[in-house]
Formats: sequence, structure tokens, C-alpha cells
Amino acid sequence: MKGLGHEDQAKRLDALRGGTPQQPHDARAIAALAANPGCTRRALMDGAGIDKDAAARHLGFPAPFGQSPFAITRGNVFETLVKADGCAELLRMLRELLGLPIAEVAYHDVENVGAHLRHTHTRALIDRAARDTHDAGTLYDHPLLSLRIAGHTAYLEPDVVAFQLGGRFHIVEIKSFAVIDGQADPAAVAAAARQAAVYVLALRTMLEELGHDPLKVAHDVVLVCPENFANRPVATLVDVRKQLAVLKRQLARMTSLDRLLDGLPDDLTFDLVPGEDGRPTRPVAELADALRRATARYAPDCLSTCDLCFFCRDEARQEGASDLLGRHVRDELGGVASVAEALGLADGVRQPAEGQEEIARLLRGAERLRKECLT
Ligand code: SF4
Repeated sequence: MKGLGHEDQAKRLDALRGGTPQQPHDARAIAALAANPGCTRRALMDGAGIDKDAAARHLGFPAPFGQSPFAITRGNVFETLVKADGCAELLRMLRELLGLPIAEVAYHDVENVGAHLRHTHTRALIDRAARDTHDAGTLYDHPLLSLRIAGHTAYLEPDVVAFQLGGRFHIVEIKSFAVIDGQADPAAVAAAARQAAVYVLALRTMLEELGHDPLKVAHDVVLVCPENFANRPVATLVDVRKQLAVLKRQLARMTSLDRLLDGLPDDLTFDLVPGEDGRPTRPVAELADALRRATARYAPDCLSTCDLCFFCRDEARQEGASDLLGRHVRDELGGVASVAEALGLADGVRQPAEGQEEIARLLRGAERLRKECLT
């Protein structure tokens, strides 16, 4: 298999994007990468910085999400409340959760230094805190971190970074979904954990670059949410080690996309060919054909994490793909790509290909049991 050098890979990715302006990555977008690590289509589009939302709209399959103005306002109001008076409410919770010493807590609002200096200033403050041998509790509001994504720098803004006694940094994520009787929507918590994992990785990278131990950043992040329909905040620790592992794997995959590019025609491009007004002019069928060249791994979770979800779902439906039944079923059916193939193996009409013997035996057994139940 041929391999591409770094420059060749960058050129291929530029050609995939074509004349479409590059899409910067934010933490939400990077977090979503970890949601479907097996999808080649997404890895290539994100690696090339392609605006998936614009592509989906042009294809006639606009994504169903995007926060409502009401949700954004609610989120902002809640965050303001938690951060009011130098993060007084947040401090109350952190004291309980992390044992921050009352007398020694300092508060730095990095936003005060101006946008262009924020990243440098954040580095300086984090460096100083990591060198400090005193058990000082410090909160950094509006810090600006960075992470390299497929050769490009993405700037990221966690809600707060807390540095506490024992020399550990904690990422604090403030979310406006409610915790009711100690329970929150698992999908919302999972999305928040993936996003916080991006910040943990970015802060660990910063510490490493500064010559400190990256493990000074705790894998437990502090998730702050409103409790029981009121706006009273409650903080919990969420372990993001699993999300970190998936994220690192996915980012490594994006920096070495050559194997994925290898299987594609050299002239393949996902260019939207924007006209003078910036609107895509590429024939829709041509773009759809180009996208179909890159293998997708549709799963129902794509509906909440990827802009191309309706396009890929439609494609999976047309192919009768087993992916439509969800990741669990797809993994159980490992190697059986379509529902028709699975049914054929189950009723014996189809002979198993090499490597499908075991799943074919299980499917035939399941079909026999189903018939017994029905009769
Ligand atoms: S929606 Fe399509 S491109 Fe996006 S992750 Fe799912 S399968 Fe991949």
C-alpha cells in the first residue's frame, strides 16, 4: 500500500475541499468526531475542514439540529448565574466537591486581556500554576486553549478551569440541561463528557508543551447543571477517560488519513464550487456521487451528532443497510452489511461467504426459534 507524505496528504485534503472555505473546528465539532470513529466519510470531511452543514443543505438534506434561540438564552442565563460575583456560586460547589480551601481561592478572568492575547495569557497562567508548589485554589474564567486537528490549530474555550490543592487542574463544564432527582438525560451527559474530554486533552497538550506532567489535568471533569427545574446549580464529577481514549484515537486517525485517501480516486473532490455570492454551484447529483465514494458508517446516533445524518440515513435506507438498526445490531451482525443479506442467511436462501459461517449459524438458529414461536 502506498503511503502519502505530510505535504501530499495536505494537498489531497485541500483538493477534497476545493474552493469551499475551510471550516474551523470548535470543541463541539471535535467532540462529535468521537461519536462515530469508524466513519471514513466523516473523518475525511473533518480532516479537510469541509463545511458538512453547507454540503448537507446543498444536497437537500439539512441537518435537524442547531440550538434553538430559547435554549441558547437559557444556557447563557444559567452560565451567568454560576459565574456571578467572581464565580461565587461555582466556588461554593467546588469547595464541597474538590475541597478547595476557602481562604486561598484566586479568580482570573482571562477575557479581560483581550481576544488576541488570551491564548498566550492562558499559557502563562497555567504555566505559573503548574510551577506553584503552594496548594492555592484558583479559577480561570474564559481561558483559551488550542489543539492541532489534522494539521490545523483549533482554538477552544472551556467554561472554567479550576486549579486546586494537590496540584490538579479540573475542567468545569456548565450546561443548562436539568438534573432531576439526581438523574440527567444520558445523551446530554454523554455529549457534555465528549466535549469536556476535548478540553482535557487540549489542556494536557498545553502542559506537555510547557514541560509539565500532562496528568496534572484530572480526567474527572466538573459538570454543573441546574437541579430539579429550578436554576439552582448542582455540580458532579464525570470521568471522561473513555471519551479521551476515543478522541485520541480519532485525532490520530485524522492526522494519518493517507490510508483512507489511498482507496479513493485521485481526482475525487467534495468541492461545493461556491459562486461569487458564496452559494454552492456544484450539481447536486455530482456532489452526492462524490460523497458516496467515501464509505459511511451510518448509525442512528448520527442524527444528533453529524450534519450529514439525513443524507447518510437516506443512503443506508436505499441500500437496506444493517447500520440502520443501530450500532449494537450492526456490531452483532459484524460483516453482514445489509438487512436483505441477513434475512437471506437466516432462512438459508443465501450461502455464507468466507468468515460469515458463525453469524449465519446464529441467524439460522434465531430464525428457527422465531418460526417455532409463531407456530
Ligand atoms: S452522518 Fe454520515 S458522515 Fe456523519 S458520521 Fe454518520 S455516517 Fe458518517
